[in-house]
Amino acid sequence: MISTTHICKSCANEFTGSFCNQCGEKVLTKKDKSFQSILNSVLLTVTFTDSKFIRTLWQVLRNPGTIARDFSAGKRVKNISPMSLFFVLNLFYFFFPVIQLFNASLTTQLLSPLSPFYKTLIATKAVSMGVDIKAFAMLYNLKTATLAKLMVMVFVVLSSLPLNVLYWKKNKYFMDHVGFAVELAAFNLFVNAIVLTLIVRIAGLGTYLDEITLTVIFITTNLYFVLRASFVFYHERGWRLVVKSLVLILFLKVALEAYRSILFFVTLFML
Ligand SMILES: [Zn+2]
Repeated sequence: MISTTHICKSCANEFTGSFCNQCGEKVLTKKDKSFQSILNSVLLTVTFTDSKFIRTLWQVLRNPGTIARDFSAGKRVKNISPMSLFFVLNLFYFFFPVIQLFNASLTTQLLSPLSPFYKTLIATKAVSMGVDIKAFAMLYNLKTATLAKLMVMVFVVLSSLPLNVLYWKKNKYFMDHVGFAVELAAFNLFVNAIVLTLIVRIAGLGTYLDEITLTVIFITTNLYFVLRASFVFYHERGWRLVVKSLVLILFLKVALEAYRSILFFVTLFML
């Protein structure tokens, strides 16, 4: 099969091997037309059952930074891209958003230091819509959950900004820093949203997880990721690695607050 020449079905290019070297079209075999194979390719597009997805996720947990590093170095076949991983996890997350991370309900928003200002805006908006606060909260939460799915990219870009400054000497491109931030966001979605939600649900720990406990978990898990990933991705080491990692985590917390404020105003505007 390797040595026979094929005429590409899509672009009429003549080539050898299983894929067209001009457009990437695959040569179909009998196996590709079996029912199992069709079912597989449907599932592959969803990537939940894709072994590549599981392997990539495992890499993120086990060796933080390697996915972003390999992707920016041009090794893109073995794993799914940080961006795909992020979007699949994002899809998962919004099915059971118990832990408020990138999605923030009205109650969570009102924990913000800006809440006195928020309350005035909410009251005005509820009056202009002709609904009471209870109905307003319901409408708000529905709207914000939908918006958060898209708006989460704002958080990723915000969190990549300090990387440009902290590691400007490393000769990376803007998109390389974004790749790092995407992997970090994927890590957070999985560990601090999905897994934490499952633990809380299974162990029934809901009432023990206050804001302080959540912050401690957030800092610890992010320190693990950022220390290891900055070593792998930026080759940073020693005290510089520790200081820059701590600065980055502090900034992450600020970026999360800033993101939530933006989400609040956008939701209010779109209601
Ligand atoms: Zn072709």
